[in-house]
Amino acid sequence: MSNREIKSDVILIGAGIMSATLGTLLKELVPDWKITVFEKLEKAGEESSNEWNNAGTGHAALCELNYTSEKPDGSINISKAIKVNEQFQESMQFWSYLVNSNLIRNPQDFIMPLPHMSMVQGEDNVKFLKKRFEAMTNNPLFKGMEFSDDPETLKKWIPLIMEDRPADEHIAATKIDSGTDVNFGALTRMLFDHLQTQNVDVEYKHNVESIKRNKDGSWAFKVHDLDGCKMEYHTAKFVFLGAGGGSLHLLQQSGIPEGKHIGGFPISGLFMVCKNQEVVEQHHAKVYGKAKVGAPPMSVPHLDTRYIDNKKSLLFGPFAGFSPKFLKTGSNMDLIFSVKPHNITTLLAAGVKEMALTKYLIQQLMLSKEQRMEELREFIPTAKSEEWDIVVAGQRVQVIKDTEAGGKGTLQFGTEVVSAADGSIAALLGASPGASTAVPVMLEVIKKCFPEHIKEWEPKIKEMIPSYGMSLREHPELIDEIHTSTAQALGLSQNLPLQTAD
Ligand SMILES: Cc1cc2nc3c(=O)[nH]c(=O)nc-3n(C[C@H](O)[C@H](O)[C@H](O)COP(=O)(O)OP(=O)(O)OC[C@H]3O[C@@H](n4cnc5c(N)ncnc54)[C@H](O)[C@@H]3O)c2cc1C
Repeated sequence: MSNREIKSDVILIGAGIMSATLGTLLKELVPDWKITVFEKLEKAGEESSNEWNNAGTGHAALCELNYTSEKPDGSINISKAIKVNEQFQESMQFWSYLVNSNLIRNPQDFIMPLPHMSMVQGEDNVKFLKKRFEAMTNNPLFKGMEFSDDPETLKKWIPLIMEDRPADEHIAATKIDSGTDVNFGALTRMLFDHLQTQNVDVEYKHNVESIKRNKDGSWAFKVHDLDGCKMEYHTAKFVFLGAGGGSLHLLQQSGIPEGKHIGGFPISGLFMVCKNQEVVEQHHAKVYGKAKVGAPPMSVPHLDTRYIDNKKSLLFGPFAGFSPKFLKTGSNMDLIFSVKPHNITTLLAAGVKEMALTKYLIQQLMLSKEQRMEELREFIPTAKSEEWDIVVAGQRVQVIKDTEAGGKGTLQFGTEVVSAADGSIAALLGASPGASTAVPVMLEVIKKCFPEHIKEWEPKIKEMIPSYGMSLREHPELIDEIHTSTAQALGLSQNLPLQTAD
């Protein structure tokens, strides 16, 4: 066993999409920095970022009804949808930069064009969807969105969903062809392959066991080399906790005051996957419905065409559930071990407030396969039980904290960057909109943690992400330009030739 301390400028914990993105951004900005990555599993992108563990939606607010809400006066608030869309445009620009610079190749292996649709049933919901469409269609970010409540049009858009429906059913949908299916697992693996060619030390089967602050302000790590069965000791000036559900424990260990009074609430997920390729071929879209009353926003049901393992697939879900694990490969003690003296009142307050959610999750967990099939039949009335299997998806650890608006113990459904005042450590908590916003969220980490460099780095950031620092809604002239250039680079437009590298 060696007690030698190994020094890095940057340590990234976890080989998911977030560390992949931050590492790639930093390598472009400061190629000389020594970056080391620790991942406890044997490959990159095996937890939430894996293609089977998330829904692969390039969240651009083109179909997710939970990003738009109805105001008391009946009008529709689309501000969150605009923000999510602008964030996704930043991710698309960075991926395009990587392809155009030949740093990653064959974008069709991680991103495919796919219509995004919202679908609702019932008179009131149809009225809501129409109003929402009218509010969005005038915005250039959502150009090309169509609405229909005409059964003949809907049969063309979604034949599988429209088959065997009563003729008098109130049903309507919006459709926009510029949506995407993103294989975040494939993208994560591509980015780590690229990083390894850039002298980034990616250590798989290395579990970070503990983290503590050194007297000089740097961070010290005890890392378990699982293959070599030995401990290693590492130090770094900057550390990013990109450990997904594992980040909260590490943040708590760091002892930074910003990490106190925060708890985590794990929500598990299940998808149903279709085994009959003939059925799979009858659908070509991501179709998002409306969340059931009491359901958390991330369990909006959707029927998705997916591209996984070079094959077109059809998935439905996610069904939410409860498991005390913070990672799919985590421990049943994760939730208990996350309870600390500083967050116990926050957690207890959330427990009281979120009784309805807990009840909902337990009910979801208890559903039989046939009950899940009944939910699927709201989308595909002809779905046959024997043609669908259940797959277990990833864990999402929702942040619980005290907020001014929500009070003590408020459950957050977004993504949160928690960083120390001196910028030496940052953690990513939460999971929505998730991987789609990896680029803007990691740019936020860079801005918060490297304020002394940001001016000098800005020209390079703008070269990679032309809309960086600008609000697209205020620069509509840029929107068309960005849509065209990203579609061209990523091969998303049928009319534009795909730029493939050899
Ligand atoms: C059911 C579900 C559906 C989703 N759908 C979508 C979607 O449609 N679109 C979207 O954009 N996002 C979606 N998301 C969210 C998205 O998957 C996550 O936001 C994203 O993958 C998180 O990436 P990450 O890098 O933070 O974490 P992860 O991918 O979980 O990676 C963390 C890594 O850290 C490692 N690790 C943990 N602890 C340690 C340790 N102590 N030492 C070393 N390594 C460690 C883990 O093994 C893991 O590999 C979904 C998530 C779920 C669960």
